[in-house]
Amino acid sequence: MERLFRLFENWLDPFDTPPTDDIPPTTGRFLWHFIGQSKGVFALMLLLGGITAVLEAAIFSFIGVIVDMLDAGSIETVLVDDRWTLIGMAVIVLVIRPITAILTVMLEEQTVVPGFFNRVRWQTNRRVLSQSLSYFQNDFAGRIAAKIWQTGQATGDFMISLLQILWFIVVFALSTLFLLAELDLWFVLIVVFWLLIYAVLAVKIIPIIRSRAKTTADTGSAVSGRLVDTYSNIQTVKLFGSSERELDGTRQSFESFLDSLRRFTRMLTIMRSLLAVLGSCMILGIGGLSIVLWGQAEITSGDVAIVLGLTLRLNLLLNRMMGQLNGLFRNLGTVQDGMDTIAKPIRVRDLPNATELEVRQGRIVFDGVGFRYGPGEAVIDNLSLSIEPGEKVGLVGHSGAGKSTLIHLLLRFYDLQKGTIRIDEQDISAIRQNSLRQSIGVVSQDTSLMHRSIRDNIAYGQIGCEPERIEEAARRAHAHEFIQELRDQKQRAGYDAHAGERGVKLSGGQRQRIAIARVLLKNAPILALDEATSSLDSEIEAAIQEQLYNLMAGKTVIAIAHRLSTIAAMDRLIVMEQGRIIETGTHQKLIDLGGAYARLWQHQSGGFLVPTQFG
Ligand code: ADP
Repeated sequence: MERLFRLFENWLDPFDTPPTDDIPPTTGRFLWHFIGQSKGVFALMLLLGGITAVLEAAIFSFIGVIVDMLDAGSIETVLVDDRWTLIGMAVIVLVIRPITAILTVMLEEQTVVPGFFNRVRWQTNRRVLSQSLSYFQNDFAGRIAAKIWQTGQATGDFMISLLQILWFIVVFALSTLFLLAELDLWFVLIVVFWLLIYAVLAVKIIPIIRSRAKTTADTGSAVSGRLVDTYSNIQTVKLFGSSERELDGTRQSFESFLDSLRRFTRMLTIMRSLLAVLGSCMILGIGGLSIVLWGQAEITSGDVAIVLGLTLRLNLLLNRMMGQLNGLFRNLGTVQDGMDTIAKPIRVRDLPNATELEVRQGRIVFDGVGFRYGPGEAVIDNLSLSIEPGEKVGLVGHSGAGKSTLIHLLLRFYDLQKGTIRIDEQDISAIRQNSLRQSIGVVSQDTSLMHRSIRDNIAYGQIGCEPERIEEAARRAHAHEFIQELRDQKQRAGYDAHAGERGVKLSGGQRQRIAIARVLLKNAPILALDEATSSLDSEIEAAIQEQLYNLMAGKTVIAIAHRLSTIAAMDRLIVMEQGRIIETGTHQKLIDLGGAYARLWQHQSGGFLVPTQFG
């Protein structure tokens, strides 16, 4: 038994590498993308579904055979003359039917549910992970995760319903027609006529049901999106005492969901009611006809039993299918809805022949760079800047001038609309993104920590890093002291304590020190510091500056700091305004120039502060 289970369970490995990571954005191709990878499983399911339906029809026809046998003779003649027929029937009912049923259920529960569902989830997760940063900025993380989870299940459930219910009914209907044709063509005519009306109805109503199912799924995810929005901003909600207002807002989206849900279920109700009436008409027609034909001795009592049994069963199946259609379309709606998120085109992609970045000296050249986030104004406007190997450059400018954007472009979080960025003569758009980012150490204003141990957070991206090096980096970032004091809810302490949303809460300054430790450990040849010390108090900042300066030695550095004193000692300062460079030079040169930088400096220091020295 264990081996049988294993056989079915090992058939589909969810972690198999897909033939391509591209997932097509139309329903049919989206489904085929996954089904095509598991053809064997679904072909067997198709086969078993067909066999089950033929067996079911055959077993109904046995009723007629038995009635006629009993009609014709006594128990003795039946047991003697018809013994092979009876044995044949027994084998079908006792052996073939259970084996088919067991194989079907094995395939569904042991292969498709664990293997296929999770293969879809795994591959869609792979795909989503390679989406650009802006993809995640424009959606809720929780919503994306839910889509991946539900789409896996819905794709599998959809296929199960399609092959085990729809296909089953189609084969059963055909077998029924075949059996009826042997008795009288009038039966076939009535059933075909009835099936045709049924098909016309389905063709007319199913598209309406489909579109309403999609609207229902869309409005449903709008409700959960709204809930996530409220919960993730709970502090703001509480601060403004606006729970009631949030409830009102949620209610509105709930109501629009209910509205579309009702429109959807109305259509299902209409369809099912029509079918009930149609079914009754057909049963009456077939029943009446069989009595008439029996009266004319055209057919036997056994035939009447077969005809009635088969048509009643077909009617029952079709009604059940209507109930299942609800689930079928709900699943299809979920698949389409998930597909819209999952199969979104990837905005920033590695070129097929992308190469690894090779940082030889660390020269960075921005050449005529133009960039805007959306359709609005250019955020970086025809900007050219050459940073020499080992040069330390400070970016200065008012908030919104485009400083962070420039660093994000260097990291290729977005593709340029104009110009190129080159590192040691290699255009970054032709380089593998992972390789580019591995070569740049970044500390930003807001570091988010993962729900993992502090140790893993510091060593993030450095697999197999020795604990001593992690601790050393933490010491240099002045984080070792506070890390030792940490203890999370599960009593894990120090470097083992878990951080992140569900772990120990760290202050902005503490998180920043972890980020600095991370960068010290990563020791990449290029450094990008975006307000790297903005959350630290002055004492710790001064202490860490020294470590950062040590780290900067021999590297090319771009640093943004709001507090000018922290970057005034850089080799060169670049003053930006509205995505353009307006001044450039050393601190002293810019002060002497008496322009925008001099005014900023004046404003911040009152003219008295001396820049921090480094080196
Ligand atoms: P700075 O770092 O100089 O304060 P930023 O580079 O953060 O400036 O922002 C430059 C401009 O780009 C601002 O007008 C800002 O609103 C806009 N911006 C920044 N990030 C995004 C984003 N992810 N999507 C759309 N607009 C953005």
